[in-house]
Amino acid sequence: MTEIEKTLENKNVRPTAMRMLIYKYMAEKEIAIALNDIENAFAKAERTTLYRTLKTFEENGIVHQIDDGTGISKFALCEAGCNCEIEQDLHLHFHCSNCNETVCLTEHKIPHINLPDGYVAEDANLVLKGICDKCSGQ
Ligand SMILES: [Zn+2]
Ligand SMILES: [Zn+2]
Ligand SMILES: [Zn+2]
Repeated sequence: MTEIEKTLENKNVRPTAMRMLIYKYMAEKEIAIALNDIENAFAKAERTTLYRTLKTFEENGIVHQIDDGTGISKFALCEAGCNCEIEQDLHLHFHCSNCNETVCLTEHKIPHINLPDGYVAEDANLVLKGICDKCSGQ
């Protein structure tokens, strides 16, 4: 069994050929990808199949969705052991306004916020904006 098959099975996702290809594609990218990127990379596949694969990945904690403020949802692979839990797994993201790429800053978790009584946080989306290392030339 390959690493990818194992990873999918551990997340209770049946490792079909398509799912493994999409996982591999995302693992090779260091940036968050949009559905559109996947569509371009798998031009022969049905759009709905690609969309459903991403949704299945998201529902099973294989990828997380990122709203980087561009209006296009992006997705990135979760780290091993991630449950997409607020204050445990959720991390900051960085969006480069020059190349328009978004990356995970997985070492930087979303800090604990003491909410007023009665408020229950369910999700968090913190995006830093600026210029990435490639664009700043440093
Ligand atoms: Zn996750
Ligand atoms: Zn950049
Ligand atoms: Zn991320």
